[in-house]
Amino acid sequence: MRFNSKLPDVGTTIFTVMSRRALEEGALNIGQGFPDYPIDPRLARCLVDVIGEGRNQYAPMEGVTELREQISSKLHGSYGLRFDPQSEITVTCGGTEALYDAVQAVVGPGDEAIIFDPAYDAYEPAVRLAGARCVRIALAPPAFRFDWDQVRRALNERTRLIIINSPQNPSCTVADRNDLDALAALIRDRPITVLADEVYEHVLYDCRRHASVLAHPELREHSFAVFSFGKTLHATGWRIGYCVAPPALTRELRKVHQFNTFSIVSPLQYAVARYLRECPDAWTGLSAFFQAKRDLLTGLLRGSGFEPIPAAGTYFQLVDYGALSTDSDMDFADRLIREAKIATIPLSPFYAAPPAMTLLRLCIAKRDETLETAAARLRAFVR
Ligand code: GLN
Repeated sequence: MRFNSKLPDVGTTIFTVMSRRALEEGALNIGQGFPDYPIDPRLARCLVDVIGEGRNQYAPMEGVTELREQISSKLHGSYGLRFDPQSEITVTCGGTEALYDAVQAVVGPGDEAIIFDPAYDAYEPAVRLAGARCVRIALAPPAFRFDWDQVRRALNERTRLIIINSPQNPSCTVADRNDLDALAALIRDRPITVLADEVYEHVLYDCRRHASVLAHPELREHSFAVFSFGKTLHATGWRIGYCVAPPALTRELRKVHQFNTFSIVSPLQYAVARYLRECPDAWTGLSAFFQAKRDLLTGLLRGSGFEPIPAAGTYFQLVDYGALSTDSDMDFADRLIREAKIATIPLSPFYAAPPAMTLLRLCIAKRDETLETAAARLRAFVR
């Protein structure tokens, strides 16, 4: 069979690869980001109830009204602003679908999108399938700060989109209000849209507060903001995400969404809506919850040779194994799976041109016992 691959250089995502390897090797999987503890039983109960009540047919294309209204209340609670469920909020299949739809909605052949390395791996393929190309700007380790001068130098008349992810996966850095001001100044009077991946909006550490594009009066007018109940309700397999954008952008996003997934699993949407009505503050303790896990894991690793890099947000933690080995991160991660029975995520796949670095990403959304076992295995590997 002859055909031209549209993404000849793209393999299987590193998350799937490492989860598969973990199964093959019987390794503890602290690579791909998902919790290993149960969801709130009240959320599970809501799902059973709405299915029994017959909420089993197509949901409206843009998402069930009850859920979009709950999302609007939640946004008001977080950012103090009202967003219209009818014209500004769309429910999607996880954050990933929202990202894809937003990209297809605004970029086309010949256009450029700016992304920041290490970049979450879903961005570039979406841009390329739209016929556009990515211009990648590196966040420099160890602090992974945004360099807005570099962004300015990368702008040209083809630039249509800047994708910013904060809290940032996989670097665990966060953008602050100054970063958003700098971004707003750069796109002022230019035909550039912002796609803000904010799926870790509720996981910031050490009293930091999330700077959302939605809370920025200028950026809000030019941005798609993407969120995820997978992260917020510890239910990554439910694949319920949403996109918030001004009406004109939402209209374009929905043109893609309606022919991509059309509409999202309806009982799951009704269940989340009911749960948020019954437990409106279910998500308010997330930063403290994950900060305790971050501190537990970094404490257990202290002095092990796996040096934690301070994490400002996300439910991940980077460790530097440079004191232990000069292996590439791919080779070292594979050794850890085979010899320590621990699956992690190497960082090089998130770069166009990986710098010399010896970093691995660990997921801390795990039971304390899992983190203790993981730390013990990493320590035993060093000895
Ligand atoms: N967001 C998850 C992570 O960063 C991965 C999701 C996926 O496997 N596509 O680990």
